Amino acid sequence: MEGSYDIAIVGGGIVGLATARELGMRHPSRKIAVFEKERELAAHQTGHNSGVIHSGIYYKPGSLKATLCVKGKKLLWKYCDEKGIPYKSVGKLIVATNDAEVARLQDVYRRGLANDPDAGFELLDPKQIKEIEPNCAGLQAVRSPKTGIVDYGLVSRTYAEDAKTHGAEIFTGCAVEGIVVDGSQSVLKTTRGDFSATYVISCAGLQSDRVARMTGSEPSPKIVPFRGDYFVVKPGRQNIVQGNIYPVPDPAFPFLGVHFTPRMNGEIWLGPNAVLAFAREGYTFFTINPRDLAETLTFGGFWKLAAKYPQIGYSEMYRDLSKRAFVAECQKFVPSLTVDDVVKGPAGVRAQALDDQGAMVDDFVFSGGKNIIHVRNAPSPAATSSMAIGEYIAEHAEKEFALA
Ligand SMILES: Cc1cc2nc3c(=O)[nH]c(=O)nc-3n(C[C@H](O)[C@H](O)[C@H](O)COP(=O)(O)OP(=O)(O)OC[C@H]3O[C@@H](n4cnc5c(N)ncnc54)[C@H](O)[C@@H]3O)c2cc1C
Repeated sequence: MEGSYDIAIVGGGIVGLATARELGMRHPSRKIAVFEKERELAAHQTGHNSGVIHSGIYYKPGSLKATLCVKGKKLLWKYCDEKGIPYKSVGKLIVATNDAEVARLQDVYRRGLANDPDAGFELLDPKQIKEIEPNCAGLQAVRSPKTGIVDYGLVSRTYAEDAKTHGAEIFTGCAVEGIVVDGSQSVLKTTRGDFSATYVISCAGLQSDRVARMTGSEPSPKIVPFRGDYFVVKPGRQNIVQGNIYPVPDPAFPFLGVHFTPRMNGEIWLGPNAVLAFAREGYTFFTINPRDLAETLTFGGFWKLAAKYPQIGYSEMYRDLSKRAFVAECQKFVPSLTVDDVVKGPAGVRAQALDDQGAMVDDFVFSGGKNIIHVRNAPSPAATSSMAIGEYIAEHAEKEFALA
């Protein structure tokens, strides 16, 4: 045995690291280890996202997303202040460009007021939109003045340093390939040998269903990967927007749609779209992982989803392949943007949990077995919510594992 721990955390993304930090602070006498298969921490969703500190406006009041996002953003601001992690409160407009969106925007606004009455959300008319974003056109908008941006990779690495300060060990380049429950202990079979642990917490993002299956948990919900590509505004045109500009979300579809997002380094990113990825950890159209693709294509839930939204699927795919179509979508909000203003940028892959009926699981999902907790669905805004999720898991672990 290479090592023996009280708690093994699978996954060195922002959720696993926030959990290790929180448990390390609360239980310094417990031996905690994090196992991350990549050589770097935060290599997947956490290191390939929009970097937005969400306000919590969108989510169903009372849902885990609503409560943990609102709590998480406040904890994150405080943490960034304490640690000197740079962030910017650039604000955000959610912009309606037709009458149907104006109607849906009222729901978004009401949800925002219910989720966080102190966030300063306000409805803007076209003139007020122009005062904040001179290049933005819209019939109505909701303004979220405190929506921010941050580098979530940096946040994660700072969580990791804290966790280590509180005694946690972090193994990178160490993939968990199997978990064997042997009496009161689990043996984690990794690429760096066998480790034993009394309790296991899986925060494996795009692989969360596979790690769950290693412990005999339900195969559903299953992860289906959706890639999102970004375009980047060329340097001379970066003043085209001042803050985040988002569309009104489609309630049938959990992704937030193509948006304008300033980055901490001064860039402006446009995107991401949402197309089926042929590899869970593949960041280009042509990256294919035969196992990942076969699992998606033999999963009935995926075909039920595809049958429900064929139009959205085709138009997302078209926008993925046509820069002109992608820019046309952005021009609904900023008409003066041109195809020449943007260049192809990076991509991220979302771990979308789907049930057997093809329904996209919307809320965060945590499940457990004996001595095991699985994070089964932690999509956006899980980065914003990460500290609150860490607290939530720690409280759950204290109860289920009788840690205190
Ligand atoms: C395109 C995109 C844009 C987004 N924008 C935002 C945003 O603006 N704001 C926001 O709040 N959220 C955003 N999100 C969501 C956010 O990035 C995720 O919710 C969050 O990063 C999830 O963190 P995680 O730790 O669960 O997953 P991940 O970051 O994917 O980490 C999981 C880790 O587990 C490791 N792992 C998996 N299997 C194993 C194994 N068997 N052994 C060892 N290690 C393993 C992986 O290598 C990975 O490092 C976005 C996501 C995407 C994809």
